[in-house]
Amino acid sequence: MNAKKISKINNSCCPKCRAEEFITEPNQYDVLVFSAGQFDIRCSESLDCFKIFCRECASEVNDDSSSQAKRVVLK
Ligand SMILES: [Zn+2]
Repeated sequence: MNAKKISKINNSCCPKCRAEEFITEPNQYDVLVFSAGQFDIRCSESLDCFKIFCRECASEVNDDSSSQAKRVVLK
């Protein structure tokens, strides 16, 4: 296997279980109102505590650290 390819995969997957998919907090949602014939987003609940979790092992991801490090960083 190509070493470069391996490191690229590691940067974008969960460092704990290598899963490549992540989910947001289940109770996070947008509040919509139907007005003038279309849905408008009134507000997003729990926007202040935006959380990302690994889909496989449910480890919480540190969003800020991941952006700075250019790789997935767990809390
Ligand atoms: Zn994981």
